[in-house]
Amino acid sequence: LSGLSRRKRLLVQGATGSIGQSVLDVARRHGDRFQVVGVAARSNLTGLVAAAREFTVQSLAFETGSDSEGARREIEGSGIPHVFSGLNALEEQAANTDYDLLVNAVSGGAGLEPTAAALRRGISVALANKETLVAAGPIVMKMAIDHGAEVLPIDSEHSAIYQCLLGEKLDSIRKIWLTTSGGPFRDFETAELEGVSVERALMHPTWKMGQKITIDSATLFNKGLEVIEANRLFGIPAERIEVVIHRQSVVHSMVEFVDGSIKAQLSVPDMRLPILFALSYPERLKSDLIQTGIEHIRSLTFDPVPSGKFPCLDIAFQALERGGTVPAALSAADEVAVDAFLNHRIRFGNIAKVLQSVLDAWPDEPLDDIITVRRADVAARRLATEAITSLN
Ligand code: NAD
Ligand code: MG
Repeated sequence: LSGLSRRKRLLVQGATGSIGQSVLDVARRHGDRFQVVGVAARSNLTGLVAAAREFTVQSLAFETGSDSEGARREIEGSGIPHVFSGLNALEEQAANTDYDLLVNAVSGGAGLEPTAAALRRGISVALANKETLVAAGPIVMKMAIDHGAEVLPIDSEHSAIYQCLLGEKLDSIRKIWLTTSGGPFRDFETAELEGVSVERALMHPTWKMGQKITIDSATLFNKGLEVIEANRLFGIPAERIEVVIHRQSVVHSMVEFVDGSIKAQLSVPDMRLPILFALSYPERLKSDLIQTGIEHIRSLTFDPVPSGKFPCLDIAFQALERGGTVPAALSAADEVAVDAFLNHRIRFGNIAKVLQSVLDAWPDEPLDDIITVRRADVAARRLATEAITSLN
């Protein structure tokens, strides 16, 4: 799209969440380049309808939960031309709305079908929803290639890697250095981690995010998901992806090349930058949204992840090495375990135990299609729920 042509039309799913709100902010401030034509979410219907009105969208999707009657009335009164509701609302919206880019900011496994629906139409996806790349990566990436569409990562690390790889060949990569702040427990002793509170686990040192990813950042399972995500996006095997603790969250990741050169991408930690990059790709938009102020960066440190301290990270590496449906199973089990922790049904240290028991029980089987992913998802949730019951 050149400056003269029409604005890029965005369908923003997960619009009421942490990433979704940042996406809307970027679209709002660059209204000359982006037009939000559809929004979707599951929670905060009032916020969703407000966004729909602000951007005068064509289409709204709401995955109805308990308050379906009230929700229906509120949406009906909003005058939005196309409304999708019910269990497959997001997929139907992605398949039946006119747009140029799907911005998938849904959390958890529910993001898979809409991504597939967009890719099948040859529409590119700006993807924050890492769980679905973890679960169905090979299927999603093949779909993108088959239909000539792109998967553009919003996750800051993968946006960094993507940017480092512009103009490079994938076989020039020696290694990917995935940075992590280390989460809220980086300075805790391993023994202290077992019984930390929900409130403490929700205090992330550098990023403000949704609850599920914040807990994943405390166990480092989030980094594990990101190792798998990097494998899916860039085809780099587990043994050439290394996680490194970088407390400042300024270097968002690095690529080491076969000649020994290392490239990195830096900025203040603000998700609006990787969002802006994914939305504007293949262009770079002139923007004053993000001011990094390099003169204020006094030091950048890189430390190894202490071994044995974050078992969820090791479990994710094992899941990637085993392949097939194992990553899908672990990702689903983690949703159940994190939910149980947030609702005070298991201790922090037991999140890893739930994942380990699902990993141990899981059979090796090929990842054939989306139905296989869904089946694995359901079975893994059941196993995780059983593991939680037997822990208590
Ligand atoms: P969040 O919980 O703040 O928001 C999630 C959004 O998805 C909400 O709008 C919610 O209503 C919607 N949603 C959830 N389940 C749904 C369903 N079944 N149907 C329809 N809508 C549903 O989460 P977040 O922090 O914005 O994260 C979103 C995704 O982005 C996650 O996959 C996360 O891992 C990834 N991500 C987030 C960050 C961050 O800084 N928050 C950074 C990198 C990646
Ligand atoms: Mg990340």
